[in-house]
Amino acid sequence: MEKKEMMYEGKAKKVYATDDPALCIVSYKDDATAFNGQKRGTIRGKGVVNNKMSNYLMQRLQAEAGIPTDFVEELSDRDTLLKKVSIVPLEVIVRNIAAGSFSARFGVPEGTQLLCPTLEFCYKNDALGDPMVNNYHIIACGWATPEDLDTITDYTFRINAWLKEFFKGVNVDLVDFKIEFGKTADGTILLADEISPDTCRFWDAVTHEKLDKDRFRRDLGNVEDAYQEMMKRIFGTQE
Ligand code: UDP
Repeated sequence: MEKKEMMYEGKAKKVYATDDPALCIVSYKDDATAFNGQKRGTIRGKGVVNNKMSNYLMQRLQAEAGIPTDFVEELSDRDTLLKKVSIVPLEVIVRNIAAGSFSARFGVPEGTQLLCPTLEFCYKNDALGDPMVNNYHIIACGWATPEDLDTITDYTFRINAWLKEFFKGVNVDLVDFKIEFGKTADGTILLADEISPDTCRFWDAVTHEKLDKDRFRRDLGNVEDAYQEMMKRIFGTQE
């Protein structure tokens, strides 16, 4: 399958059309942004890590947790063939441990273990700064139907449960993460976008060292090393 015209260029990925109207190709870049695009940079090798990690997790979530995804086939280090979906305009955020905007907003110190996993939705709109919204906002504005929101909520908690166990096995605490869902032409909800150190907070289970994009956001140094370390923990000596 070959890339045709570019349909979309985002902060970290480009998406291309293919000869098949039901499929597209995503190409992961090394570009990094934070704080709604105000901070920009490059993380060498990030595109390869995010492509491979995300594809691996999507395939296992599909096989072992029964989550339908848009993954079709990894084409190269940076390129993957996907089912074409229209993205539900929500950032779906799950938190197991307080960090980032949760800590800032609610005054709960970073690192506080939450008593249960929490779910947040943000409306995907850069101009508005991706505001947090609730189920009523989503249904009232038509961003998702009640049925689709139920499906998304069910999938999201199952995804969290599976990912938390998986990362525990590689000595990493899954602090929080953001996922997105898409809808196919026939109305099926699929897990879409990526699951990577760009979209998850990963802390070493023992040292609590940050192994994710917070190293870039907060200028902590060793950003590339953190991405490579996560790669090593997941793929071991295979990579
Ligand atoms: N996140 C993301 N994209 C966003 C906002 C958040 O991937 O536009 C992820 C982020 O990496 C973290 C989780 O969602 O794993 C929760 O992020 P938070 O709301 O704390 O925002 P941040 O502090 O990253 O601005």
